[in-house]
Amino acid sequence: MTIQLLSPILINQIAAGEVVDRPASIVKELVENAIDAGATEISIQLEHGGRDVISVSDNGCGIQGTELHLAVAPHATSKIMEEADLAAVASLGFRGEALASIGSVSHLAITSRTKEDDAGMRIEVDAGEASEPAPTAARVGTTVEVKRLFYNTPARRKFLKSDSAETTRVRDAVQKIAAAHPLVSFVLKSGDRTLLRYGQSDTKDRLISIFGPELTSELIDVSYELGEMKLWGVIGTPDVARPTSRNIRVHVNGRTIQDPSITHALKDAYKGLIEPNRWPTAALFIEMNPALVDVNVHPQKSEVRFRDKNAIWRLVNRGVATALQANDIVATFWPSDSSTSSSFGTGEQLPMIEGVSTEWMHQETPLPTIRKSDEVMQVHKCFLVTQDEQGILIIDQHALHERIMFEELYERMQQTQLESQRLLVPDSIEADGAKMELLEEHQVLFQKLGIEVEASGPASISVYALPTLLVSRSVEGSKFIQDVFDLLSDAQGEVDEETVLVDILDMMACKAAIKAGDEMTQTELKDLLSKRHLYERSSRCPHGRPTTMRLSIEELEKKFGRR
Ligand code: ADP
Ligand code: MG
Repeated sequence: MTIQLLSPILINQIAAGEVVDRPASIVKELVENAIDAGATEISIQLEHGGRDVISVSDNGCGIQGTELHLAVAPHATSKIMEEADLAAVASLGFRGEALASIGSVSHLAITSRTKEDDAGMRIEVDAGEASEPAPTAARVGTTVEVKRLFYNTPARRKFLKSDSAETTRVRDAVQKIAAAHPLVSFVLKSGDRTLLRYGQSDTKDRLISIFGPELTSELIDVSYELGEMKLWGVIGTPDVARPTSRNIRVHVNGRTIQDPSITHALKDAYKGLIEPNRWPTAALFIEMNPALVDVNVHPQKSEVRFRDKNAIWRLVNRGVATALQANDIVATFWPSDSSTSSSFGTGEQLPMIEGVSTEWMHQETPLPTIRKSDEVMQVHKCFLVTQDEQGILIIDQHALHERIMFEELYERMQQTQLESQRLLVPDSIEADGAKMELLEEHQVLFQKLGIEVEASGPASISVYALPTLLVSRSVEGSKFIQDVFDLLSDAQGEVDEETVLVDILDMMACKAAIKAGDEMTQTELKDLLSKRHLYERSSRCPHGRPTTMRLSIEELEKKFGRR
Protein backbone atom coordinates (compact mmCIF):
# COMPACT_ATOMS: atom_id res chain seq x y z
CA MET A 1 0.00 0.00 0.00
CA THR A 2 1.28 3.43 -0.89
CA ILE A 3 0.40 6.57 1.01
CA GLN A 4 -1.02 9.37 -1.14
CA LEU A 5 -2.21 12.90 -0.49
CA LEU A 6 -5.97 13.22 -0.90
CA SER A 7 -7.27 15.49 -3.63
CA PRO A 8 -8.79 18.81 -2.43
CA ILE A 9 -12.29 17.74 -3.53
CA LEU A 10 -12.02 14.52 -1.56
CA ILE A 11 -10.79 16.42 1.50
CA ASN A 12 -13.82 18.68 1.28
CA GLN A 13 -16.18 15.78 0.77
CA ILE A 14 -14.82 14.13 3.87
CA ALA A 15 -15.26 17.37 5.83
CA ALA A 16 -18.75 17.63 4.37
CA GLY A 17 -19.58 14.32 5.97
CA GLU A 18 -19.20 15.94 9.35
CA VAL A 19 -20.54 19.42 8.72
CA VAL A 20 -23.34 18.88 6.25
CA ASP A 21 -24.93 15.48 6.49
CA ARG A 22 -28.44 16.46 5.39
CA PRO A 23 -30.56 19.44 4.28
CA ALA A 24 -31.21 20.52 7.87
CA SER A 25 -27.52 20.95 8.64
CA ILE A 26 -27.00 22.88 5.39
CA VAL A 27 -29.87 25.20 6.25
CA LYS A 28 -28.38 25.66 9.71
CA GLU A 29 -24.98 26.66 8.27
CA LEU A 30 -26.49 29.02 5.69
CA VAL A 31 -28.83 30.70 8.14
CA GLU A 32 -25.99 31.12 10.63
CA ASN A 33 -23.92 32.77 7.90
CA ALA A 34 -26.81 35.16 7.24
CA ILE A 35 -27.07 36.03 10.93
CA ASP A 36 -23.30 36.56 11.13
CA ALA A 37 -23.71 38.94 8.18
CA GLY A 38 -26.14 41.03 10.25
CA ALA A 39 -29.27 40.04 8.33
CA THR A 40 -32.66 41.01 9.77
CA GLU A 41 -34.69 39.12 7.16
CA ILE A 42 -33.97 35.57 6.13
CA SER A 43 -36.02 33.43 3.81
CA ILE A 44 -35.53 29.78 3.05
CA GLN A 45 -36.98 27.87 0.15
CA LEU A 46 -36.93 24.07 -0.18
CA GLU A 47 -37.85 21.77 -3.05
CA HIS A 48 -38.35 18.09 -2.28
CA GLY A 49 -37.13 18.18 1.27
CA GLY A 50 -34.05 20.09 0.18
CA ARG A 51 -32.65 17.32 -1.95
CA ASP A 52 -33.40 19.23 -5.17
CA VAL A 53 -33.12 22.83 -3.99
CA ILE A 54 -32.19 24.67 -0.81
CA SER A 55 -32.12 28.42 -1.22
CA VAL A 56 -31.38 30.89 1.58
CA SER A 57 -31.67 34.66 0.99
CA ASP A 58 -30.72 37.37 3.42
CA ASN A 59 -30.46 41.16 3.61
CA GLY A 60 -27.10 41.07 5.36
CA CYS A 61 -23.86 42.87 4.51
CA GLY A 62 -23.16 40.79 1.40
CA ILE A 63 -19.86 39.52 0.05
CA GLN A 64 -17.61 41.64 -2.16
CA GLY A 65 -17.34 40.30 -5.69
CA THR A 66 -13.57 40.06 -5.34
CA GLU A 67 -13.96 37.79 -2.31
CA LEU A 68 -16.59 35.42 -3.65
CA HIS A 69 -14.04 32.81 -4.67
CA LEU A 70 -12.61 32.93 -1.11
CA ALA A 71 -16.02 32.39 0.46
CA VAL A 72 -16.24 29.01 -1.25
CA ALA A 73 -12.60 28.07 -0.63
CA PRO A 74 -11.87 25.71 2.26
CA HIS A 75 -10.43 27.14 5.46
CA ALA A 76 -11.31 30.66 4.37
CA THR A 77 -13.26 32.84 6.78
CA SER A 78 -13.75 36.52 7.58
CA LYS A 79 -14.57 35.72 11.18
CA ILE A 80 -11.27 34.88 12.81
CA MET A 81 -7.71 35.73 11.85
CA GLU A 82 -5.42 34.30 14.47
CA GLU A 83 -5.36 31.81 17.26
CA ALA A 84 -6.26 34.40 19.89
CA ASP A 85 -9.57 35.03 18.04
CA LEU A 86 -10.48 31.39 18.45
CA ALA A 87 -10.57 31.90 22.19
CA ALA A 88 -13.16 34.65 21.85
CA VAL A 89 -15.36 33.78 18.89
CA ALA A 90 -18.39 36.05 18.83
CA SER A 91 -19.80 34.87 15.49
CA LEU A 92 -21.73 31.68 14.89
CA GLY A 93 -19.32 30.50 12.20
CA PHE A 94 -15.54 30.48 12.34
CA ARG A 95 -14.33 27.23 10.79
CA GLY A 96 -14.49 28.45 7.21
CA GLU A 97 -15.57 25.09 5.86
CA ALA A 98 -19.34 25.15 5.38
CA LEU A 99 -19.51 26.68 1.90
CA ALA A 100 -16.52 24.70 0.66
CA SER A 101 -18.05 21.49 1.98
CA ILE A 102 -21.45 22.23 0.49
CA GLY A 103 -19.81 23.13 -2.84
CA SER A 104 -18.10 19.75 -2.96
CA VAL A 105 -21.32 17.76 -2.72
CA SER A 106 -23.80 19.81 -4.76
CA HIS A 107 -24.27 22.48 -7.42
CA LEU A 108 -23.73 25.64 -5.36
CA ALA A 109 -24.43 29.19 -6.50
CA ILE A 110 -23.91 32.37 -4.48
CA THR A 111 -25.28 35.74 -5.55
CA SER A 112 -24.28 38.64 -3.40
CA ARG A 113 -24.13 42.41 -3.30
CA THR A 114 -22.74 44.75 -0.66
CA LYS A 115 -24.31 48.18 -0.17
CA GLU A 116 -21.24 49.82 -1.77
CA ASP A 117 -21.75 47.86 -5.00
CA ASP A 118 -24.09 48.93 -7.83
CA ALA A 119 -24.74 45.38 -8.94
CA GLY A 120 -24.40 41.89 -7.62
CA MET A 121 -21.92 39.17 -8.45
CA ARG A 122 -22.55 35.49 -8.84
CA ILE A 123 -20.25 32.50 -8.45
CA GLU A 124 -21.08 28.87 -9.16
CA VAL A 125 -19.40 25.79 -7.79
CA ASP A 126 -19.83 22.38 -9.34
CA ALA A 127 -18.47 19.45 -7.44
CA GLY A 128 -15.79 21.66 -5.91
CA GLU A 129 -14.86 23.55 -9.15
CA ALA A 130 -15.60 27.28 -8.84
CA SER A 131 -16.52 29.43 -11.85
CA GLU A 132 -15.26 32.99 -12.47
CA PRO A 133 -17.62 35.37 -10.63
CA ALA A 134 -19.89 37.22 -13.07
CA PRO A 135 -21.99 40.37 -12.59
CA THR A 136 -25.72 39.99 -12.17
CA ALA A 137 -28.68 41.98 -10.91
CA ALA A 138 -29.18 41.59 -7.18
CA ARG A 139 -30.46 43.29 -4.04
CA VAL A 140 -28.06 44.06 -1.20
CA GLY A 141 -27.52 40.82 0.66
CA THR A 142 -26.79 37.25 -0.25
CA THR A 143 -28.63 34.33 -1.81
CA VAL A 144 -27.10 30.89 -1.57
CA GLU A 145 -28.62 28.14 -3.69
CA VAL A 146 -27.78 24.49 -3.22
CA LYS A 147 -29.05 22.20 -5.97
CA ARG A 148 -29.01 18.42 -6.39
CA LEU A 149 -27.51 17.76 -3.01
CA PHE A 150 -25.16 14.75 -2.81
CA TYR A 151 -25.55 14.04 -6.55
CA ASN A 152 -21.88 13.02 -6.62
CA THR A 153 -21.86 11.12 -3.31
CA PRO A 154 -24.58 8.51 -3.81
CA ALA A 155 -23.80 6.77 -0.52
CA ARG A 156 -24.69 9.89 1.37
CA ARG A 157 -27.74 10.57 -0.76
CA LYS A 158 -29.05 7.17 0.22
CA PHE A 159 -29.02 8.18 3.88
CA LEU A 160 -31.60 10.89 3.28
CA LYS A 161 -35.06 10.10 4.58
CA SER A 162 -38.35 10.88 2.84
CA ASP A 163 -38.94 14.43 1.61
CA SER A 164 -41.35 15.09 4.43
CA ALA A 165 -38.97 13.75 7.08
CA GLU A 166 -36.17 15.96 5.77
CA THR A 167 -38.53 18.93 5.61
CA THR A 168 -39.50 18.34 9.23
CA ARG A 169 -35.86 18.40 10.25
CA VAL A 170 -35.29 21.62 8.39
CA ARG A 171 -38.30 23.12 10.12
CA ASP A 172 -36.89 22.05 13.49
CA ALA A 173 -33.50 23.53 12.63
CA VAL A 174 -35.04 26.85 11.59
CA GLN A 175 -37.17 26.95 14.73
CA LYS A 176 -34.08 26.38 16.86
CA ILE A 177 -32.24 29.32 15.32
CA ALA A 178 -35.36 31.48 15.27
CA ALA A 179 -35.87 30.98 19.01
CA ALA A 180 -32.44 32.45 19.63
CA HIS A 181 -32.82 35.40 17.25
CA PRO A 182 -36.21 37.06 17.77
CA LEU A 183 -35.06 40.29 16.11
CA VAL A 184 -34.61 38.48 12.80
CA SER A 185 -37.66 37.63 10.73
CA PHE A 186 -37.83 34.21 9.08
CA VAL A 187 -39.85 32.62 6.30
CA LEU A 188 -39.55 28.94 5.43
CA LYS A 189 -41.26 27.61 2.32
CA SER A 190 -41.43 24.16 0.83
CA GLY A 191 -42.60 24.24 -2.78
CA ASP A 192 -45.39 26.81 -2.68
CA ARG A 193 -46.36 26.08 0.91
CA THR A 194 -45.29 28.44 3.69
CA LEU A 195 -44.22 26.30 6.63
CA LEU A 196 -43.01 29.02 8.97
CA ARG A 197 -43.33 32.77 9.10
CA TYR A 198 -41.95 34.71 12.04
CA GLY A 199 -41.99 38.49 12.08
CA GLN A 200 -39.57 40.58 14.09
CA SER A 201 -40.41 40.06 17.74
CA ASP A 202 -39.07 39.65 21.28
CA THR A 203 -37.93 36.47 23.00
CA LYS A 204 -41.24 35.74 24.69
CA ASP A 205 -43.46 36.27 21.68
CA ARG A 206 -41.07 34.39 19.42
CA LEU A 207 -41.21 31.40 21.77
CA ILE A 208 -44.97 31.54 21.88
CA SER A 209 -45.12 31.46 18.11
CA ILE A 210 -42.71 28.53 18.01
CA PHE A 211 -43.91 26.42 20.91
CA GLY A 212 -47.58 27.28 20.69
CA PRO A 213 -50.16 29.72 22.05
CA GLU A 214 -50.71 27.63 25.17
CA LEU A 215 -47.55 29.26 26.53
CA THR A 216 -49.21 32.67 26.63
CA SER A 217 -49.16 33.85 30.27
CA GLU A 218 -47.27 30.71 31.28
CA LEU A 219 -43.79 32.16 30.78
CA ILE A 220 -41.62 33.49 33.57
CA ASP A 221 -38.63 35.79 33.10
CA VAL A 222 -35.27 34.62 34.29
CA SER A 223 -32.46 37.00 35.11
CA TYR A 224 -29.59 35.95 37.29
CA GLU A 225 -25.92 36.62 37.73
CA LEU A 226 -23.18 34.53 39.24
CA GLY A 227 -19.74 36.09 39.25
CA GLU A 228 -19.21 37.37 35.74
CA MET A 229 -21.71 35.01 34.18
CA LYS A 230 -25.21 36.06 33.35
CA LEU A 231 -28.29 33.94 32.78
CA TRP A 232 -31.43 35.35 31.20
CA GLY A 233 -34.37 34.10 29.23
CA VAL A 234 -37.78 32.63 29.93
CA ILE A 235 -39.02 29.42 31.47
CA GLY A 236 -42.46 27.82 31.48
CA THR A 237 -44.60 27.24 34.55
CA PRO A 238 -44.87 23.59 35.66
CA ASP A 239 -48.26 23.59 33.95
CA VAL A 240 -46.68 23.62 30.52
CA ALA A 241 -44.14 20.89 31.21
CA ARG A 242 -43.86 18.51 28.29
CA PRO A 243 -43.27 14.80 27.82
CA THR A 244 -40.10 15.41 25.79
CA SER A 245 -37.16 17.77 26.14
CA ARG A 246 -37.75 19.42 22.76
CA ASN A 247 -38.99 22.62 24.34
CA ILE A 248 -35.68 23.27 26.03
CA ARG A 249 -33.35 25.69 24.28
CA VAL A 250 -29.94 26.57 25.62
CA HIS A 251 -27.71 29.28 24.18
CA VAL A 252 -24.23 30.25 25.17
CA ASN A 253 -23.09 33.63 23.89
CA GLY A 254 -25.77 33.45 21.18
CA ARG A 255 -24.92 29.93 20.07
CA THR A 256 -27.55 27.21 20.41
CA ILE A 257 -26.02 24.20 22.07
CA GLN A 258 -26.89 20.83 23.52
CA ASP A 259 -25.52 20.25 26.98
CA PRO A 260 -26.77 17.44 29.20
CA SER A 261 -25.37 19.08 32.30
CA ILE A 262 -27.28 22.33 31.70
CA THR A 263 -30.47 20.42 30.96
CA HIS A 264 -29.96 18.56 34.21
CA ALA A 265 -29.44 21.78 36.17
CA LEU A 266 -32.66 23.15 34.68
CA LYS A 267 -34.64 20.02 35.41
CA ASP A 268 -33.27 19.84 38.90
CA ALA A 269 -34.65 23.30 39.61
CA TYR A 270 -38.12 21.93 38.80
CA LYS A 271 -37.70 18.98 41.11
CA GLY A 272 -40.88 18.40 43.01
CA LEU A 273 -42.78 20.69 40.65
CA ILE A 274 -43.10 18.44 37.66
CA GLU A 275 -43.14 14.71 37.25
CA PRO A 276 -39.67 13.20 36.87
CA ASN A 277 -40.55 11.98 33.39
CA ARG A 278 -41.59 15.42 32.14
CA TRP A 279 -39.49 18.33 30.95
CA PRO A 280 -39.83 22.03 31.50
CA THR A 281 -40.17 24.54 28.70
CA ALA A 282 -37.27 26.95 28.65
CA ALA A 283 -35.18 29.26 26.52
CA LEU A 284 -32.05 30.07 28.44
CA PHE A 285 -29.31 32.44 27.37
CA ILE A 286 -25.95 32.33 29.08
CA GLU A 287 -23.60 35.25 28.57
CA MET A 288 -20.07 34.66 29.69
CA ASN A 289 -16.47 35.48 28.99
CA PRO A 290 -15.84 33.68 25.66
CA ALA A 291 -12.38 32.74 26.85
CA LEU A 292 -13.96 30.43 29.44
CA VAL A 293 -15.83 28.33 26.89
CA ASP A 294 -14.33 26.34 24.04
CA VAL A 295 -16.67 26.45 21.06
CA ASN A 296 -14.37 24.49 18.79
CA VAL A 297 -15.12 20.97 19.96
CA HIS A 298 -17.80 19.86 17.52
CA PRO A 299 -17.92 20.05 13.69
CA GLN A 300 -21.52 21.29 13.72
CA LYS A 301 -20.69 23.56 16.66
CA SER A 302 -23.63 22.25 18.67
CA GLU A 303 -21.58 21.37 21.73
CA VAL A 304 -19.15 23.45 23.73
CA ARG A 305 -16.76 22.77 26.56
CA PHE A 306 -16.83 24.91 29.68
CA ARG A 307 -13.76 25.66 31.75
CA ASP A 308 -15.86 25.49 34.92
CA LYS A 309 -18.75 23.12 34.40
CA ASN A 310 -19.89 23.28 38.01
CA ALA A 311 -20.22 27.04 37.94
CA ILE A 312 -22.46 26.76 34.88
CA TRP A 313 -24.58 24.15 36.63
CA ARG A 314 -25.01 26.45 39.64
CA LEU A 315 -25.77 29.47 37.46
CA VAL A 316 -28.58 27.67 35.66
CA ASN A 317 -29.93 25.79 38.65
CA ARG A 318 -30.02 28.79 40.98
CA GLY A 319 -31.15 31.19 38.31
CA VAL A 320 -34.13 29.04 37.38
CA ALA A 321 -34.96 28.14 40.99
CA THR A 322 -34.87 31.82 41.97
CA ALA A 323 -37.23 32.76 39.15
CA LEU A 324 -39.66 30.01 40.13
CA GLN A 325 -39.57 31.06 43.77
CA ALA A 326 -40.11 34.70 42.87
CA ASN A 327 -43.34 33.56 41.25
CA ASP A 328 -44.36 31.53 44.31
CA ILE A 329 -43.83 28.29 42.48
CA VAL A 330 -42.44 25.99 45.15
CA ALA A 331 -42.53 22.26 45.64
CA THR A 332 -44.94 20.93 48.21
CA PHE A 333 -44.99 17.18 47.97
CA TRP A 334 -41.96 15.74 46.36
CA PRO A 335 -38.74 15.34 48.36
CA SER A 336 -36.84 18.57 47.94
CA ASP A 337 -33.74 17.68 49.91
CA SER A 338 -31.10 17.36 47.23
CA SER A 339 -29.21 14.53 48.93
CA THR A 340 -32.17 12.17 48.59
CA SER A 341 -33.62 13.30 45.33
CA SER A 342 -30.40 13.40 43.37
CA SER A 343 -30.36 9.64 43.58
CA PHE A 344 -33.96 9.35 42.44
CA GLY A 345 -34.07 6.94 39.60
CA THR A 346 -30.38 7.02 38.81
CA GLY A 347 -29.66 3.82 40.66
CA GLU A 348 -26.09 4.93 41.25
CA GLN A 349 -26.41 5.80 44.84
CA LEU A 350 -28.63 4.25 47.43
CA PRO A 351 -30.68 6.77 49.32
CA MET A 352 -30.16 7.06 53.02
CA ILE A 353 -32.68 7.33 55.76
CA GLU A 354 -30.83 8.99 58.58
CA GLY A 355 -27.68 7.09 57.93
CA VAL A 356 -29.31 3.74 57.27
CA SER A 357 -28.74 2.44 53.79
CA THR A 358 -31.98 1.24 52.32
CA GLU A 359 -32.80 -0.82 49.34
CA TRP A 360 -34.78 0.14 46.26
CA MET A 361 -36.90 -2.63 44.94
CA HIS A 362 -36.04 -3.27 41.33
CA GLN A 363 -37.63 -5.48 38.76
CA GLU A 364 -35.17 -8.32 39.35
CA THR A 365 -35.80 -8.65 43.05
CA PRO A 366 -38.93 -10.65 43.77
CA LEU A 367 -41.67 -8.49 45.16
CA PRO A 368 -42.19 -8.83 48.86
CA THR A 369 -45.52 -10.37 49.69
CA ILE A 370 -47.78 -8.20 51.70
CA ARG A 371 -50.28 -10.17 53.72
CA LYS A 372 -53.91 -9.07 53.47
CA SER A 373 -54.03 -8.53 57.19
CA ASP A 374 -51.12 -6.10 57.18
CA GLU A 375 -52.12 -2.55 57.88
CA VAL A 376 -51.30 0.06 55.26
CA MET A 377 -50.78 3.63 56.24
CA GLN A 378 -50.75 6.65 53.97
CA VAL A 379 -48.09 9.12 55.02
CA HIS A 380 -48.19 12.80 54.00
CA LYS A 381 -50.71 11.83 51.31
CA CYS A 382 -47.75 10.69 49.29
CA PHE A 383 -46.26 7.45 50.55
CA LEU A 384 -47.74 4.17 51.65
CA VAL A 385 -46.12 2.34 54.52
CA THR A 386 -46.61 -1.33 55.24
CA GLN A 387 -44.60 -4.41 56.13
CA ASP A 388 -43.47 -7.69 54.63
CA GLU A 389 -41.56 -10.55 56.18
CA GLN A 390 -38.24 -8.74 55.83
CA GLY A 391 -39.06 -5.31 57.11
CA ILE A 392 -40.82 -2.05 56.40
CA LEU A 393 -41.91 -1.11 52.90
CA ILE A 394 -42.30 2.46 51.77
CA ILE A 395 -44.15 2.88 48.50
CA ASP A 396 -44.55 5.95 46.33
CA GLN A 397 -48.31 5.94 45.71
CA HIS A 398 -48.12 7.80 42.42
CA ALA A 399 -45.21 5.79 41.04
CA LEU A 400 -46.89 2.50 41.89
CA HIS A 401 -50.29 3.47 40.54
CA GLU A 402 -48.74 4.80 37.37
CA ARG A 403 -46.87 1.53 36.81
CA ILE A 404 -49.98 -0.54 37.33
CA MET A 405 -52.05 1.62 35.01
CA PHE A 406 -49.41 1.40 32.36
CA GLU A 407 -49.49 -2.39 32.47
CA GLU A 408 -53.27 -2.45 32.31
CA LEU A 409 -53.32 -0.08 29.37
CA TYR A 410 -50.60 -1.95 27.56
CA GLU A 411 -52.37 -5.26 27.91
CA ARG A 412 -55.62 -3.78 26.66
CA MET A 413 -53.89 -2.28 23.64
CA GLN A 414 -52.34 -5.61 22.73
CA GLN A 415 -55.77 -7.17 22.52
CA THR A 416 -57.95 -4.44 21.15
CA GLN A 417 -58.26 -0.69 21.29
CA LEU A 418 -58.72 1.46 24.38
CA GLU A 419 -62.21 2.16 25.55
CA SER A 420 -63.21 5.61 24.49
CA GLN A 421 -65.64 8.17 25.79
CA ARG A 422 -67.11 11.16 24.00
CA LEU A 423 -66.52 14.55 25.55
CA LEU A 424 -69.57 16.63 26.39
CA VAL A 425 -67.87 19.66 24.93
CA PRO A 426 -65.15 19.10 22.32
CA ASP A 427 -61.79 20.55 23.28
CA SER A 428 -59.70 22.43 20.69
CA ILE A 429 -56.10 23.35 20.21
CA GLU A 430 -54.43 25.67 17.75
CA ALA A 431 -52.40 23.69 15.27
CA ASP A 432 -49.63 24.51 12.86
CA GLY A 433 -48.82 22.64 9.66
CA ALA A 434 -46.61 20.19 11.52
CA LYS A 435 -49.46 19.11 13.78
CA MET A 436 -51.85 18.79 10.85
CA GLU A 437 -49.40 16.42 9.17
CA LEU A 438 -49.03 14.32 12.31
CA LEU A 439 -52.78 14.15 12.63
CA GLU A 440 -53.14 12.73 9.15
CA GLU A 441 -50.22 10.38 9.48
CA HIS A 442 -51.26 8.77 12.76
CA GLN A 443 -55.01 8.27 12.38
CA VAL A 444 -54.72 4.53 13.05
CA LEU A 445 -52.76 5.09 16.22
CA PHE A 446 -55.23 7.67 17.48
CA GLN A 447 -58.04 5.23 16.88
CA LYS A 448 -56.28 2.47 18.81
CA LEU A 449 -55.75 4.85 21.69
CA GLY A 450 -59.45 5.72 21.79
CA ILE A 451 -58.77 9.30 20.79
CA GLU A 452 -61.10 10.97 18.32
CA VAL A 453 -59.43 14.03 16.83
CA GLU A 454 -60.08 15.94 13.65
CA ALA A 455 -59.06 19.16 12.02
CA SER A 456 -61.79 21.69 12.79
CA GLY A 457 -60.42 24.59 10.79
CA PRO A 458 -57.32 25.57 8.84
CA ALA A 459 -55.34 26.03 12.06
CA SER A 460 -57.26 24.15 14.70
CA ILE A 461 -57.75 20.58 15.81
CA SER A 462 -60.66 19.40 17.94
CA VAL A 463 -60.80 16.48 20.33
CA TYR A 464 -64.17 14.73 20.42
CA ALA A 465 -63.43 11.60 22.42
CA LEU A 466 -60.70 10.44 24.79
CA PRO A 467 -59.81 7.18 26.50
CA THR A 468 -62.39 6.56 29.25
CA LEU A 469 -59.62 6.28 31.79
CA LEU A 470 -58.57 9.87 31.18
CA VAL A 471 -62.11 11.21 31.11
CA SER A 472 -62.84 9.55 34.44
CA ARG A 473 -59.78 11.24 35.94
CA SER A 474 -60.86 14.62 34.44
CA VAL A 475 -57.72 14.97 32.38
CA GLU A 476 -57.86 18.07 30.19
CA GLY A 477 -58.24 16.97 26.58
CA SER A 478 -56.33 19.83 24.99
CA LYS A 479 -53.29 19.31 27.22
CA PHE A 480 -53.30 15.60 26.65
CA ILE A 481 -53.45 15.96 22.88
CA GLN A 482 -50.72 18.55 22.97
CA ASP A 483 -48.50 16.01 24.75
CA VAL A 484 -49.36 13.28 22.27
CA PHE A 485 -48.34 15.58 19.41
CA ASP A 486 -45.09 16.35 21.20
CA LEU A 487 -44.25 12.69 21.52
CA LEU A 488 -45.19 11.99 17.92
CA SER A 489 -43.14 14.81 16.50
CA ASP A 490 -40.19 13.92 18.67
CA ALA A 491 -40.29 10.39 17.33
CA GLN A 492 -40.74 11.34 13.69
CA GLY A 493 -38.74 9.14 11.42
CA GLU A 494 -36.52 8.07 14.30
CA VAL A 495 -38.24 5.34 16.23
CA ASP A 496 -40.81 2.66 15.55
CA GLU A 497 -44.47 3.01 16.38
CA GLU A 498 -44.25 0.59 19.30
CA THR A 499 -41.81 2.87 21.12
CA VAL A 500 -44.02 5.92 20.63
CA LEU A 501 -46.98 3.91 21.77
CA VAL A 502 -45.22 2.92 24.98
CA ASP A 503 -44.31 6.57 25.54
CA ILE A 504 -47.89 7.66 25.02
CA LEU A 505 -49.29 4.98 27.34
CA ASP A 506 -46.67 5.93 29.88
CA MET A 507 -47.77 9.52 29.72
CA MET A 508 -51.45 8.53 29.97
CA ALA A 509 -50.71 6.40 33.00
CA CYS A 510 -48.89 9.27 34.62
CA LYS A 511 -51.77 11.68 33.99
CA ALA A 512 -54.43 9.31 35.22
CA ALA A 513 -52.58 7.98 38.26
CA ILE A 514 -53.23 9.07 41.80
CA LYS A 515 -51.09 12.07 42.54
CA ALA A 516 -48.99 12.86 45.53
CA GLY A 517 -51.40 14.78 47.73
CA ASP A 518 -54.43 12.65 46.88
CA GLU A 519 -55.98 11.12 49.96
CA MET A 520 -56.80 7.39 49.71
CA THR A 521 -59.25 5.22 51.62
CA GLN A 522 -58.17 1.92 53.18
CA THR A 523 -60.00 0.05 50.43
CA GLU A 524 -58.21 2.02 47.74
CA LEU A 525 -54.90 1.44 49.47
CA LYS A 526 -55.36 -2.30 49.68
CA ASP A 527 -56.71 -2.45 46.17
CA LEU A 528 -53.65 -0.67 44.86
CA LEU A 529 -51.25 -2.90 46.74
CA SER A 530 -53.04 -6.04 45.61
CA LYS A 531 -52.33 -5.16 41.98
CA ARG A 532 -48.60 -4.93 42.42
CA HIS A 533 -48.06 -8.29 40.76
CA LEU A 534 -49.24 -6.71 37.50
CA TYR A 535 -45.99 -4.99 36.89
CA GLU A 536 -43.84 -7.62 38.52
CA ARG A 537 -44.11 -9.76 35.41
CA SER A 538 -43.34 -6.92 33.11
CA SER A 539 -39.98 -6.05 31.66
CA ARG A 540 -41.26 -2.81 30.21
CA CYS A 541 -40.41 -0.42 32.94
CA PRO A 542 -41.68 2.89 31.49
CA HIS A 543 -39.08 5.07 33.18
CA GLY A 544 -36.81 3.50 35.71
CA ARG A 545 -38.26 5.24 38.71
CA PRO A 546 -38.45 3.08 41.81
CA THR A 547 -41.85 2.51 43.34
CA THR A 548 -40.86 0.79 46.53
CA MET A 549 -38.14 1.01 49.13
CA ARG A 550 -37.47 -1.46 51.89
CA LEU A 551 -36.00 -0.80 55.32
CA SER A 552 -35.01 -4.24 56.56
CA ILE A 553 -35.38 -5.43 60.14
CA GLU A 554 -31.68 -6.18 60.12
CA GLU A 555 -30.86 -2.56 59.35
CA LEU A 556 -33.28 -1.31 61.95
CA GLU A 557 -31.70 -3.58 64.52
CA LYS A 558 -28.27 -2.26 63.64
CA LYS A 559 -29.48 1.28 63.85
CA PHE A 560 -30.93 0.76 67.28
CA GLY A 561 -27.88 -1.03 68.58
CA ARG A 562 -29.53 -4.44 68.78
CA ARG A 563 -26.86 -6.05 66.65
P1 ADP B 1 -17.49 30.51 8.27
O1 ADP B 1 -18.91 30.88 8.49
O2 ADP B 1 -17.02 29.52 9.27
O3 ADP B 1 -16.58 31.70 8.15
P2 ADP B 1 -18.40 29.59 5.70
O4 ADP B 1 -17.84 28.61 4.74
O5 ADP B 1 -19.75 29.33 6.22
O6 ADP B 1 -17.36 29.73 6.88
O7 ADP B 1 -18.40 31.01 5.01
C1 ADP B 1 -17.17 31.53 4.51
C2 ADP B 1 -17.22 33.06 4.47
O8 ADP B 1 -18.14 33.50 3.50
C3 ADP B 1 -17.66 33.70 5.76
O9 ADP B 1 -16.58 33.88 6.67
C4 ADP B 1 -18.23 35.02 5.28
O10 ADP B 1 -17.22 36.00 5.15
C5 ADP B 1 -18.76 34.71 3.91
N1 ADP B 1 -20.21 34.50 3.90
C6 ADP B 1 -20.84 33.30 3.87
N2 ADP B 1 -22.19 33.46 3.86
C7 ADP B 1 -22.42 34.79 3.89
C8 ADP B 1 -23.60 35.61 3.89
N3 ADP B 1 -24.84 35.06 3.87
N4 ADP B 1 -23.45 36.96 3.93
C9 ADP B 1 -22.21 37.51 3.98
N5 ADP B 1 -21.07 36.80 3.96
C10 ADP B 1 -21.15 35.46 3.92
MG1 MG C 1 -20.48 29.59 8.22
